[in-house]
Amino acid sequence: MKALLVNPWIEDFAAYDFWLKPLGLLYVAAYLEKLGFELHLIDLMNRHDEVLKRFVNVPKDKFYGTGKFPYVEVEKPDVLKFVPRKYKRYGAPEEYFYYRLKQIGKVDIVFVTSTLTYWYPGYWDTIAFLKEFYGEDVPIVFGGFYVRNLPSHAKKTRVHIFPSNDLNRLPRLLEEVLNVRINNTPIDWFLLPPKYELYNKLGYLVFITTIGCPFKCSYCIAHRIWNGIRFKPYELVLYEIEKYVKMFNVKDIVFFDDAILVNSKRHFKLILKELVKKGYSKYRFHLPNGIHAKLIDEEIAELMKELNFKTIKLGYETAGELQIKTGGKVVDKDLVKAARILRKVGFTEKEVSAYIMVNIPGQTVKDVKDAIKFCKEEGIGFSINEYTPIVGTDDWIDLINGGRLTGREDPILLNNTVLPFWWKYGMDEDTIQYLKMHARKVKEGGSYD
Ligand code: SF4
Repeated sequence: MKALLVNPWIEDFAAYDFWLKPLGLLYVAAYLEKLGFELHLIDLMNRHDEVLKRFVNVPKDKFYGTGKFPYVEVEKPDVLKFVPRKYKRYGAPEEYFYYRLKQIGKVDIVFVTSTLTYWYPGYWDTIAFLKEFYGEDVPIVFGGFYVRNLPSHAKKTRVHIFPSNDLNRLPRLLEEVLNVRINNTPIDWFLLPPKYELYNKLGYLVFITTIGCPFKCSYCIAHRIWNGIRFKPYELVLYEIEKYVKMFNVKDIVFFDDAILVNSKRHFKLILKELVKKGYSKYRFHLPNGIHAKLIDEEIAELMKELNFKTIKLGYETAGELQIKTGGKVVDKDLVKAARILRKVGFTEKEVSAYIMVNIPGQTVKDVKDAIKFCKEEGIGFSINEYTPIVGTDDWIDLINGGRLTGREDPILLNNTVLPFWWKYGMDEDTIQYLKMHARKVKEGGSYD
């Protein structure tokens, strides 16, 4: 049986390739291979694809393999007409998609993945393109975070949806869809290497060494998707890194875990120590996913320095009482301690910075300005993220219960770029722009007021 896996387009007002790889889809590929499928991949978001440059000018890498996606302007969905910004489809052009589909030829089944819920127009357009190419003959299975989080909405695509993160439920769906017997012996899919072999070229490699998170932040869905936290045995992590770094000859290695520092003595430290031993200091490592400041110790910091970590993002989010109210994953003193440890081993603002989230429900302008001031005074770099209420989080449930959201909003309206234009219970667009400007000024040495 021949299967095609597709990483769909992103449609939004802005998007940037900050080490985005469809890891879930690559695990599905590894799983399908075990079931005996012949596999093909079209990643519409792989800026480093060898064939892509024949079809479009791909912006050069900005730093460490990251960069801007090629894009075309597309019509704004009606529900976004009031937003005074251009709406774009990011990723490979249609001509590339068509060329690759022709090249791959007839397949028995197509799998399309998804991530952020408010990017659904890009997923829907990808599915529409596939339907136009294959007609109704080839079944399409649609999975990923958007489908899991909003299954009823995803059903509107009229394809087969897979709203689960347990791949061992796939054989049953495949039997129904393909009308064949599929081996349903459970497979521990997380122990499989993500199927990077399906790419012809990559600009960086992304890995997850754990799934889940033991913390329970009110704005985050990670702890609701996965039950607790699970660790991939460190030997397997090392095997994957060695195998794929050699195969793709990349310089940048990215860990995208939600909670990589948990139980570090028996997990992350072992990985780092082995990487040091194996001479991986000549590569560049990145932790873009907001690590836990309170779990950093001197040994981790020294190992990361030895291994040439270039990006260490600390999850800070806000100053003020919301630190505790949203779950208490970090308080000021944790950040100070982490920053001092990291500085002591030689890291600077260039490598280490904290995420500050703007527009958390109940957050004041003062909370954000205090967070900026705090980082600046402690010599920690910072970057501003805009909050979005994710369906199913504690925050979202509170907003519904408090009458501040109805729960029936079009998912696209919860895009953090769009929210300040219509949501009267949060910060408006002018306030957000003011805070971003304030952050820029403070970074450049301006005053805190
Ligand atoms: S924000 Fe981070 S620490 Fe909090 S639940 Fe999500 S992944 Fe865990």
